[in-house]
Amino acid sequence: MNRRNRSGSFVLLAVAVGAHLLDHQATVAEWAFLVFNFLIYPQLAYWRAHRAADQMTTELDNLIVDSAFFGIWLAHLHFPVWITFTMAISTTINLTVFRGRLGTGQAFLGLGLGILLMTPFSGLSLAPETNALTTGLCVTGLTLYLLTVGEGAYGRAIKLHEAQEKQRESEHALASANGALQQQLSEIKLLQDQLRQQANHDALTGLYNRHYLSATMERELARCRREGLPVSVLLIDIDHFKQVNDRHGHQAGDEALRQLANMLRAHARAADIVCRYGGEEFLLVLPGMAKETACERAEAYRAEFARTTLSHGATPIRCTLSIGVSVVPEHGATPEEVIAQADEALYRAKAQGRDQVMVAEAVHEAA
Ligand code: GH3
Ligand code: MG
Ligand code: MG
Repeated sequence: MNRRNRSGSFVLLAVAVGAHLLDHQATVAEWAFLVFNFLIYPQLAYWRAHRAADQMTTELDNLIVDSAFFGIWLAHLHFPVWITFTMAISTTINLTVFRGRLGTGQAFLGLGLGILLMTPFSGLSLAPETNALTTGLCVTGLTLYLLTVGEGAYGRAIKLHEAQEKQRESEHALASANGALQQQLSEIKLLQDQLRQQANHDALTGLYNRHYLSATMERELARCRREGLPVSVLLIDIDHFKQVNDRHGHQAGDEALRQLANMLRAHARAADIVCRYGGEEFLLVLPGMAKETACERAEAYRAEFARTTLSHGATPIRCTLSIGVSVVPEHGATPEEVIAQADEALYRAKAQGRDQVMVAEAVHEAA
């Protein structure tokens, strides 16, 4: 609130105007109006603003009333230059600081209104002179007033600067929080990718696992059926693998599984699904591959693996494969049917001495 400023500056004005009145044989009414306007009115203005719902607006409206009173005084005293200048500049600056050009206009409006009200009684004439005391008081008052306005502007600038600093700090904090969040998001994405990889792949060989096979094989069969293409299935089992473990240790067995996986992967086409079906069993789904080509592939795998010497430690290990081959649509239409047929063929390969490829027997559908 403006109480202290208004009361203080009005006391100064009272003294300056009083010094002027002393020179002009003022009446009791003039002295009474001076006391009312410069000593009592500021308290009434404060009281009105204090009680208002919107104190700031009421206080600024009070400033217009101030300028109307000043207008009355100026007309009544016939515009002494120093008093006119002091009153006009102080009321105009006050309103301009808070309301811009609108405030300037309102201050002039208030002054004009006061002058208009008073002119019929005091007449229009000019008496610009003031005595030395009044001039000195006006100069001192104006100086103090302008310093107060400057100090207020400085205080507001400091507050603005502090607010900007705080905003910059919070922006900085926000940016680093955002950075941390981005980092966490990319870590989460990486973990999700790893999880997806783990969910679909076998940890030992890196091949697809059975979970992936059951999720994709049906779709592959449907696609090839639509396109009128065959799908071959190879079920591969390492012969006497238990003996590898028993003779050379589980680590050697693991190495053999990895080497077989690498060999299968090396020859796979992009569309082939190569998966570890069980312990030492691997299943290959070969979309668009006819039975004859599939048998050639199986035979090539068998021959290459039989030739391969698995190296683990000092002892060379040799293993063979038994492979069962079946084809969609010749041996079945669903994944279950065609895998069962490949399994049956594999069983015969084992029964007939292992290290060989067997093809499923044609299924004769009921007419
Ligand atoms: P067959 O010629 O009839 O297939 O005989 P086999 O010994 O290969 O078959 P069997 O089913 O009797 O034994 C499979 C062995 O595979 C038993 C098991 O310990 C081993 N095995 C399964 N998974 C793993 C694995 O991840 N690592 C190792 N090292 N061995 C495994
Ligand atoms: Mg085996
Ligand atoms: Mg087996």
